[in-house]
Amino acid sequence: MTDHLMANYARLPVAFTRGEGAWLWDSNDKRYLDALSGIAVCGLGHAHPAVRDALCEQAGTLIHTSNLYRIPAQEALGDRLCASAGMDRVFFCNSGAEANEAAIKLARLHAHRNGIDKPEVLVMDNSFHGRTLATLTATGNRKAQAGFEPLVHGFVRIPYDDLAAVETAATNRPNIVAVLVEPIQGEGGVVVPSNGYLAGLQEQCRRHGWLLMLDEIQTGMGRTGALFGHVHEGIAADVMTLAKGLGNGVPIGACMARGAAAEVLGPGTHGSTFGGNPLACRAGCAVLEVLEKEHLPERAGVLGSRMLDAFHHALDGIAGVLQVRGRGLMIGIELDRPCAELVARALDQGLLINVTAERVVRLLPPLIIDDQQADCIVDAVSRLIRSFLAPRHQDAG
Ligand SMILES: *Cc1c(COP(=O)(O)O)cnc(C)c1O
Repeated sequence: MTDHLMANYARLPVAFTRGEGAWLWDSNDKRYLDALSGIAVCGLGHAHPAVRDALCEQAGTLIHTSNLYRIPAQEALGDRLCASAGMDRVFFCNSGAEANEAAIKLARLHAHRNGIDKPEVLVMDNSFHGRTLATLTATGNRKAQAGFEPLVHGFVRIPYDDLAAVETAATNRPNIVAVLVEPIQGEGGVVVPSNGYLAGLQEQCRRHGWLLMLDEIQTGMGRTGALFGHVHEGIAADVMTLAKGLGNGVPIGACMARGAAAEVLGPGTHGSTFGGNPLACRAGCAVLEVLEKEHLPERAGVLGSRMLDAFHHALDGIAGVLQVRGRGLMIGIELDRPCAELVARALDQGLLINVTAERVVRLLPPLIIDDQQADCIVDAVSRLIRSFLAPRHQDAG
């Protein structure tokens, strides 16, 4: 291993050299079943032919021009995304953090234009919004923030899934202009809020004149069984951010807006050199096309229910398993103790999983997995968890 990369990642000692669908192969040609998708990125799996063809063709034609000019592929993706999301306009960038930065800037500019000089954005405990200074400040995890002070002003934090706390904030903080929230908290441990939470938030935002800004970076692009996570709640956001699954691995982020929020950013107010370049937008178009043509969000919903049922069957009542939860192919299994070592144990067995929030096994498999692969993931993960929680029992068996 080289010493020349900054040491900000604790990497596992494995390198993948190729992939196909839900399978990856390492440099020793060992095969792995991917139940993580590069953290909810490769929803169509690896080496998807539609993405490959779009990228090859675009790479051989034109990769980058500049936002100084019109970019037809960006316009096409913008049209498509807005039609699918019920949004009016989109700004393209290159990552989730950048998409949220754009949303935060949009909220502030909107406020200033309405005479609010010190606007505040309401954010949640246990949230994750990115690693730039503003998105790190918005993130509800003190560990991620430690050492990076001074943080950015203009955020107010309350507990997640708590509508009463929103009302209290509204009373005490007259300068709140927007709420930034994940429909399901991903990094925070696959935390699914109560039914009606998002609808309640939407109602409060309307009443107080705030923008409802949904961070769908992890929940979007079909992951939860609908194209976007908030669709299950039948609500509409003013601002929505996307990234992860949008390019199936090609870096692209998007900040979408509707109604008055869509008219806030004018020439010179925001920008990105790479954002929305022809290559990334062709990837995005290919992803959306496949998702819709092959009904992958619906498929994720069906598969997710199948996996959740099977996990309940395999793990409910086992001492140490606190909860099995999730929606679609975003699944979390919360244990009563830190379990990061499960990742390496799974890797050993040829399975890629993740542990987040210290005690939550997180699964984010590609949306294209088949029933057998889904069952295989459930079997392997259940066995790993059972032997982790009761090692002696395992030795005897
Ligand atoms: C991953 C993630 C981000 C940050 O995205 P990056 O591309 O890593 O900057 C922001 N919000 C949510 C909900 C995420 O899951």
